Amino acid sequence: MFGRATLLGDAAHPTTQYMAQGACMAMEDAVTLGEALHATHHDWDAALQLYQRNRVTRTARIVLSGREMGRLYHAAGVERLVRNALWKGRSQDRFYDAIECLYGWNVNKALQQG
Ligand SMILES: Cc1cc2nc3c(=O)[nH]c(=O)nc-3n(C[C@H](O)[C@H](O)[C@H](O)COP(=O)(O)OP(=O)(O)OC[C@H]3O[C@@H](n4cnc5c(N)ncnc54)[C@H](O)[C@@H]3O)c2cc1C
Repeated sequence: MFGRATLLGDAAHPTTQYMAQGACMAMEDAVTLGEALHATHHDWDAALQLYQRNRVTRTARIVLSGREMGRLYHAAGVERLVRNALWKGRSQDRFYDAIECLYGWNVNKALQQG
């Protein structure tokens, strides 16, 4: 083995199914890694750092959110009552707003912020 290695997809951030984002995150990882290599003119060390900086927070958010969504879906007792009260009457727009971060992602914007 020579040099550094990195992970992407489930190997890097295995998640529960509740956000339906595992494959999406794997594809975003791949696109980001490719763009990071392009942006660093194929300096692998710099590209891997840029890739990692860009992906950790977003993918961790999915992992943690998925865990919480599972808890919400399977809530029982008082927790279920609280969930139902919070979501009752919630408009479709508010649900869409809550998932805007999933579908508003753009690799160039992400690399600029990283
Ligand atoms: C029921 C179900 C529903 C899902 N629904 C969604 C969804 O709606 N939306 C979504 O975005 N994601 C969904 N996912 C998650 C998604 O399938 C995964 O996040 C995604 O497949 C991860 O891709 P990956 O390439 O990282 O890993 P994998 O797809 O697991 O690919 C890893 C590959 O490596 C191979 N491999 C393992 N060990 C070795 C070895 N030693 N040598 C060589 N090859 C090896 C495996 O055979 C496999 O082909 C779902 C998953 C499941 C199980």
